[in-house]
Amino acid sequence: MMAQQNSGFEPQAFRAEVRAFLAEKLPEDLRRKVIGHQRLAKQDFLRWHEILRAQGWVAPNWPVEHGGTGWSVMQRYVFDEECAVAGAPETVPFGLRMVAPVIMAYGSAEQKARYLPRILSGEDWWCQGYSEPGAGSDLAALKTRAERKDGVFVVNGQKTWTTYAQYADMMFCLVRTDFEAKAQAGISFLLIDMRTPGISIRPIRTLDGDVEINEVFFDNVEVPVANLVGELHKGWTCAKYLLSHERFGASRVGRSKRELAFLQRLLRERVVDGQPLAADPIWAQTVARLEIDLLALEHTNLRLMERVQRGGGHGAEASVLKLLGTTLAQAITERQVEAAGVHALPFRQQAFTPQNLEDAAQDGRPGCADTDTLAGFYLNLRKISIYGGTDEVQKNIISKVALGL
Ligand SMILES: Cc1cc2nc3c(=O)[nH]c(=O)nc-3n(C[C@H](O)[C@H](O)[C@H](O)COP(=O)(O)OP(=O)(O)OC[C@H]3O[C@@H](n4cnc5c(N)ncnc54)[C@H](O)[C@@H]3O)c2cc1C
Repeated sequence: MMAQQNSGFEPQAFRAEVRAFLAEKLPEDLRRKVIGHQRLAKQDFLRWHEILRAQGWVAPNWPVEHGGTGWSVMQRYVFDEECAVAGAPETVPFGLRMVAPVIMAYGSAEQKARYLPRILSGEDWWCQGYSEPGAGSDLAALKTRAERKDGVFVVNGQKTWTTYAQYADMMFCLVRTDFEAKAQAGISFLLIDMRTPGISIRPIRTLDGDVEINEVFFDNVEVPVANLVGELHKGWTCAKYLLSHERFGASRVGRSKRELAFLQRLLRERVVDGQPLAADPIWAQTVARLEIDLLALEHTNLRLMERVQRGGGHGAEASVLKLLGTTLAQAITERQVEAAGVHALPFRQQAFTPQNLEDAAQDGRPGCADTDTLAGFYLNLRKISIYGGTDEVQKNIISKVALGL
């Protein structure tokens, strides 16, 4: 439980401390699931959350007064990178990294006292109710209405693409409260208990056959007025604050390092015409290109981080890092599928759930190789150039904010 404070931060010592913790505390079955691209259940996320919480490290972006680590941006970067490379599950962002900073900045004393400890403990699972049919990139076009009546807001409308709504206890939600005002002006930020009568959830099956995202419908849902965060009609301020958070996590350098290592292992293990693919000069060139891009991304990340810490920056750092990180991560999965060749073709649902593999092994049935999950992983990662702002939208921001076009 060292390294709680920013002062006296020594990168090598801190990295070694994080590595030692991961070596001791990351459960092998969770690590195997992450490295093998298998699906994580709610219980898997909660288990890792609890291990981090016990260590005092579950909220790296929170100040110490609320139970966070108080780490600097650089410490958080090192921590995220080490966790990803080791194969730790990512913590679910909606509570810890999205709504919590908003509650800290704009919430009432009661909201802080109620929700922050429950996010820290993992008691409440949150989901994000921003997007609607017809309001994604153009978020201000949202139509879900909240009308104030007798101490409650009555909410009617629909959200979509809501990640893990099926697990959620709470949703932070953008709703229209002023129906005359234009675009952003009449929007408010509400906290909604997902067990409130009138809420229904319909799963959306994604390309890889999984159910991660949902449609959420509100039919006369009554939300206490005390669940409004910040001022009425000023929810856009909270929304923008939330989206500007975690600007440096967007590049996911650690995950790309892990996936590149997976690709390199595949190339060593796959033998074609008596030679491992790794010995093929075209593959060697392809991997070198990815390594160079990853190194460039890492250095860009560190450079932008340092610049912003010195008070500089153009304001489009998050967009630059998300765009570059996404492009590289998708390129690595494409090469993984190519390297696995025909072995990536079978799409076997059971490959995504290790219990089935263990059962199969016990019964003497053939299990699944780790290449069996590659097609699913490849398909799943198409989402990263859409959520959190599409590639095209990031390019618009970069051209306007950073390049002044
Ligand atoms: C897996 C996944 C999980 C998600 N989870 C959540 C969640 O938990 N909560 C939530 O609120 N939302 C979530 N989203 C929604 C996500 O934020 C939106 O999908 C995203 O903002 C794009 O909006 P859209 O789908 O409406 O597409 P649209 O905005 O309709 O875009 C369609 C296409 O048009 C392009 N386009 C749009 N506007 C412009 C422009 N101005 N210039 C150039 N091109 C443009 C886009 O790049 C895209 O290619 C999730 C999405 C995915 C895929």
